[in-house]
Parts: sequence; structure tokens; C-alpha cells
Amino acid sequence: MTPRRAVVIGSGPNGLVAAIELARAGLAVEVHEAEDEPGGGVRSTELTLPGFIHDVCSGIHPLAVASPALRDLDVEWVHPAAPAAHPLEDGDAVVLERSLEETAEQLGSDGPAYRRLIEPFVGAWSELSELRFWRGARSLGPAPLWAALAAARPLLERRFHLDRTRAFVAGHAAHSMLPLERRPSAGFAVALLTMGHTVGWPFPRGGAQRIADALVARLLELGGELHTGSSVEELPRAEIVLADVAPRELVRIARRRLPERYARALLRYRHGPGAFKVDWALSAPIPWRAAGVARAGTVHLGASLAEIAESERSAWTGALTERPFVLLAQQGRFDATRGQTAWAYAHVPHGSSVDIADRIEAQVERFAPGFRDVVLARHAMGPPELEAHNRNLVGGDLNNGAMDLGQLLFRPARRPLPYRTPLSGVYLCSAATPPGGGVHGLCGYAAAKLALRDFGLSRAAATTACP
Ligand SMILES: Cc1cc2nc3c(=O)[nH]c(=O)nc-3n(C[C@H](O)[C@H](O)[C@H](O)COP(=O)(O)OP(=O)(O)OC[C@H]3O[C@@H](n4cnc5c(N)ncnc54)[C@H](O)[C@@H]3O)c2cc1C
Repeated sequence: MTPRRAVVIGSGPNGLVAAIELARAGLAVEVHEAEDEPGGGVRSTELTLPGFIHDVCSGIHPLAVASPALRDLDVEWVHPAAPAAHPLEDGDAVVLERSLEETAEQLGSDGPAYRRLIEPFVGAWSELSELRFWRGARSLGPAPLWAALAAARPLLERRFHLDRTRAFVAGHAAHSMLPLERRPSAGFAVALLTMGHTVGWPFPRGGAQRIADALVARLLELGGELHTGSSVEELPRAEIVLADVAPRELVRIARRRLPERYARALLRYRHGPGAFKVDWALSAPIPWRAAGVARAGTVHLGASLAEIAESERSAWTGALTERPFVLLAQQGRFDATRGQTAWAYAHVPHGSSVDIADRIEAQVERFAPGFRDVVLARHAMGPPELEAHNRNLVGGDLNNGAMDLGQLLFRPARRPLPYRTPLSGVYLCSAATPPGGGVHGLCGYAAAKLALRDFGLSRAAATTACP
């Protein structure tokens, strides 16, 4: 059977990339989005004051510029002078520079160990970024691979001696949203640091929404349709259905059509901690004590490995810490089109309704005395508000499922293999499939390619490039 019609449920980056791949193969594609605006995790709006444009979810996009599924997007990328910085309590900072050498130089006696950890991945980047994983793995060799699969805390304690190096690398590992004692939290640090030295950590001028706008424009050019305010309540009748949804949402809309065993596996799927997010409209850039921090797009706020590890652990145990590890982005400093904005979040227990906006501000103030004086307005969203904004953010979990070893490759279930479901023609394509959370579109890309292959359309698909 040659399918003529495909429906994509959800217009996050994965849904839109999937829809584009299907449209390129000649299918009539409809995307149905529950919310009034397309984009899922790539939306921007005036959350605080008129004229201040904030990214509601994702704000920094190394994964997007690295992804072959998002190549050649009509987006203007803003590259701050440095990808990231980690201010320290003594008033100094470690800055993630584009140059590996300049970064290692700041780490004193730990510099050579930093190079040994990251340099092999920078060397293998051309293979890894083209998704040639086997070749990439061969060129890396076993030792770097084991390091990437390790838990961050023991790795950092073994390899580095200086507190500043441990804090700096731990801040990157914390993006895993895993306790730093759990595998593969070190891999997230390795990946992000490598991208800092290869593609950078840019963001779109004008806001993350520009990624969604560019994808929607591409879809419409290809003849696809987008229906917003169109919540899908039942699996649509189409030869191919790709669902950019959370696993439990698939169970809901499948209405008992899924085999019981598979439905149970989806309902058992583990979500991680939530996020508590704050956006600010500022009267001036954040007055960082350490000069180098002003050059960075992203700033990690946590005084030491121990403090960061405690914060990340507390997001799993439910005991909120007084000093949460904060991931902050200061887009407004580098992009005048948005107004002077800043964006930050911390990891909190799944579904937590505790307001930690003051604790997040206290962390900023600690490294930027006078910060509160430049705040004109703030907007806060905890896990319940995030989930109300986008139902894929179950309990505020921004990765659509914990990214531990057990769920890294086999997401959301062990059988059938990723993307397929037991229902013929129905595929999952959200961040609840490999490679997981982040704005890269690779889940949608892989699911669409698989669907096309299953329907004998892979030849047509293979002749077209990525969007
Ligand atoms: C606070 C926060 C900060 C983040 N920061 C970053 C960052 O800096 N960099 C980065 O790379 N990633 C970041 N992320 C993660 C990133 O946004 C997500 O991993 C990514 O958007 C996942 O894409 P997706 O297409 O799988 O799903 P989503 O982007 O979540 O989109 C899913 C869409 O499907 C729709 N939908 C769901 N069910 C239905 C239904 N039944 N009917 C119709 N529509 C439906 C939803 O409304 C939503 O629009 C962040 C996320 C959050 C919440």
C-alpha cells in the first residue's frame, strides 16, 4: 500500500521535522497542535513586559546547530563571545571558550586532564555530528567512551584536583538532570563541552520561536498543513501517524487500541525531575562580579561540585535545597531585538509546586551583587505551569523522560524497537524516543525515515536532503 496521507500529532521540533520529511517524500501531511501557537519547546513571547521577548522553554541551541536534521534553517544564530561561564565564590570564573586550549589554560594543573577528557571527542566530532556513531566510536577508542558513560561525580573526583575544574565540569554534567552519582551524567558534560569547542552554543536572533517559524515555513512550502488549537483526542485515521507526544498521552489518545502489555510499559515509563523557570525583564545587563561572565551566553550558578551534586540529588529525593544549581542564559545582552532579558531555571522534584523564584534570584545575586536592582519584572513557571503550557512536560520534566542508562536507547519501551508502536502505521517521534530531550529534531527525523522505509518509500526519502 502506498500511503497518501500522514498526520503528525504535535508541532514541537520533532513533530515539525517529521512532518517535513514526510512531505518531502510526497505525502499529504497534516500537523495538529493542541496549543494556539506552533513550536512546543521552541516558543517565545512577552512573558513580563511589552517589548521583552522571552523563550518560554528552550533558550540555548547547541544541539540545533549540531543537528543534521535542522541544517540550513532560515534562522540567524547569535554566537556570544563565549558559550558558557561558571562564576566562583572568590570572584573569579571559568569560561568555556570556543578554543579548547584557552579553556584548558584557565584550569591550571587540571588543564592537561581536561584536554585528555575532551580532546578525543573534538577530534571525532566530524563523525559524531554526521551521526556516523560506529566510525566515531572507533576513532574515540574505549577509554573516552567509558568516560562518557560514567557518573560525573566519581569521574571528576578521580580526574581533577582543583575545585574550580570540578565545579565547572559538574555544571555541564547537571544538564543531564540526573544525580551526578548516576550514569551517564558525565556524558552530558562531555557532549556540551565538545559542542562548545566545535559548533558553539548559539541562540536564534529574535527568540527560539524563530526555529519553529522556520520549520513551519518549510512545511507549508512543501504543501503540508498546520492546524493549531487542534488537540488530538483520538488516533487519527491516516496511513501514517507520527505522535510527538508523551508516552502516557499516546495511551490516552489510543483509547485501548494499544496491546495491554505495551500500554503498561508506556505508563511505567519514568519521568525525571521538573524545572522551575524564571524570566526577567532587566533595566541593564546582569552586573556579574567576575568580568569574563559578561562574554558568555549561558551561565552556571553553583559554588562547588558538592553544592551542585546536592542540588541535583535533591531534585530526585524531593528535599528542596536552599541553594539550587541555576542554569541561566542572558540572551538580551547579545540580542537587542528581545529587550534586556534573562532566562533561568533550576531542577526541582517532579511535579513540585513549591515556588523557588526567590532562591533562584538569591543565587544570581550571590555571583552578581546588585542583580535585584536591575530587575524590572519577573515571570515564574513551576512544573504545573510548564505542563499546562505544553502537555509533553509531564511533571515539568523537560526531557520527556529520565535520561539515565536504562532509558537512553530504549525509550520509551524495550519492545518494539524505538519509534514503532505495535499499531501498524503509528509511530512515536517525541523526545521520549532516542536520542531524547533537546532541540535537535532527530527523534522526528529518525521516526519519519523509519515510517517511510516501512511503507517502501525510503528511496524517495533518501534522495532528499535534510530540511
Ligand atoms: C524550561 C525548559 C528549558 C529548556 N531548555 C532547553 C535548551 O536550552 N536547549 C534545548 O536544546 N532544549 C531545551 N529544552 C528541551 C526542549 O524544549 C525539548 O526537549 C524539545 O522541545 C522536545 O521537542 P519535541 O518535539 O519532542 O516536543 P515538544 O517541543 O514538547 O512539543 C510537543 C508538542 O506536542 C503538542 N501535543 C502534545 N500532545 C498533543 C495532542 N494530543 N494533540 C495535539 N498536540 C499535542 C504539545 O502541545 C507541544 O506543542 C528545554 C525545555 C524546557 C521546558
